[in-house]
Amino acid sequence: MTQYLLAIDQGTTSTRAMIVNDQGQVIDSAQKEFPQYFPRSGWVEHDGMEIIRSVMDVVGQVLQRLPVGAWPMAMGITNQRETTLIWDRKTGEPIYPAIVWQDRRTADYCRQLKQEGHEDLVREKTGLLLDPYFSATKIKWILDNVAGSRTRAAKGELAFGTVDSFILWHLTGGRVHGTDVTNASRTLLFNIRDMAWDRDLLQLFEVPPELLPDVHACDHHFGDMERRLFGQAIPITAIAGDQQASMIGQDCVHAGQIKCTYGTGGFIMMNTGDTLIQSKNRLLTTVAYEIQGKVTYALEGSFFSAGSAVSWLRDGLKIIKNVKETDAIARSIDSSNGVYMVPAFTGLGAPHWDPDAKGSLFGLSRGTGVAEIVRATLESVGFQTADLIDAMKQDANISFDVLKVDGGMAQNEWLLQFLTDIMQIDIIRSRISETTAYGVALLAGLGSGLFNRVNNLSIFYQYVDVKQSVISIKEMTRQRGNWKRAVESTSYYARK
Ligand code: ADP
Repeated sequence: MTQYLLAIDQGTTSTRAMIVNDQGQVIDSAQKEFPQYFPRSGWVEHDGMEIIRSVMDVVGQVLQRLPVGAWPMAMGITNQRETTLIWDRKTGEPIYPAIVWQDRRTADYCRQLKQEGHEDLVREKTGLLLDPYFSATKIKWILDNVAGSRTRAAKGELAFGTVDSFILWHLTGGRVHGTDVTNASRTLLFNIRDMAWDRDLLQLFEVPPELLPDVHACDHHFGDMERRLFGQAIPITAIAGDQQASMIGQDCVHAGQIKCTYGTGGFIMMNTGDTLIQSKNRLLTTVAYEIQGKVTYALEGSFFSAGSAVSWLRDGLKIIKNVKETDAIARSIDSSNGVYMVPAFTGLGAPHWDPDAKGSLFGLSRGTGVAEIVRATLESVGFQTADLIDAMKQDANISFDVLKVDGGMAQNEWLLQFLTDIMQIDIIRSRISETTAYGVALLAGLGSGLFNRVNNLSIFYQYVDVKQSVISIKEMTRQRGNWKRAVESTSYYARK
């Protein structure tokens, strides 16, 4: 009899449920968007209960469509990482909206901690940087701003969790307060060497330990989704953060394997095996996964503008009607004719790290038209990828010849060809575009014993495309040199 696995992928703008069978085939999926709240400039919030309702909605849809008599043998949860919730243990209701990873409200506090010289300790213990992105300063903000919450937290009345933890709580009827190592590793409170909450960090960020969930391996049996919800229980046998789950979905399970997800931004992760590499290029060191008792680490870097730069061509400049056109437009000319675009709309991420940089266009002439600007925008995504990958190669001191890609923008064939040309490595696109949900479904299969080893999951991995470079190294070097000068000029302009 066919066995089924259920995945919940709770993302930043939408929630997805997916059903995968024991042959690794995606049988069904459902998706639902939910509201974003921007109460002030730089603030981004979600309503925790709206998240739970979206989860119940999509899970209900796919369970209802299962073949008669079929039921998932196990399920997994993957989620937007770092987003922070504190809720009442009695009611399960959040005491404040979820503060989303993008939220910058704690920037000043992070700057203060840096000035006080805390960053080295934080980096050493967590592999991360002192940045509002991560959960710890968001927890402190809620405790400092919701009246009475600090006292209640110390009395054990409140619970903190990232979104996985909050969903787990609700699916188990408040019985389980847990999370997995990958989500814990993004809080700034978790020591990735000891693999435990860190007392010094709890003290530094003034977080009472009574708030914290128990931390387990990704393939742990966390509890069961209550029978009362959909008629039958389902064991929850996997949790992993979104980028980590997509690494598994992309079959990046050996040291040196690397993937990039192209959505709004670009997210690159490289498996470094059991070696914890401390970056010299301000990349993040993080936990890739813990499966069958073995911890695997990763290096991670992201750039902020990928698909969002293309959306800007459509919504801001209005020079294209839809984002898909960019493929044909880029192809319609032989080169971008010396035009370079640095899409630093919200500063520059790794490895440049220039928060003050603004977007810029270089090399305009009377001959410049829409096609050059469109092509230069797509190229900028390639150049940013190449810069990050060089930084990773340097840090890890290894070279590799394949980059696996996924995400909305990886549908752009021209971009994939440019990527291989500019990096002279092969580009592989996964057959499955939703590698995040897919990855955690496979993990749930491992956690429930349906599959026996992470390495054996490779049989399910299929790709639709391999792109190989067609330009010369000399040409590549020339273009990357021009890009480098464009980035330097952009940063120079941002200096006051
Ligand atoms: P996210 O998960 O971050 O919301 P998606 O993975 O859905 O993003 O990717 C959507 C982004 O990719 C959008 O910003 C869009 O502009 C861009 N995009 C989608 N398809 C293409 C395409 N064919 N060519 C260029 N950009 C694209």
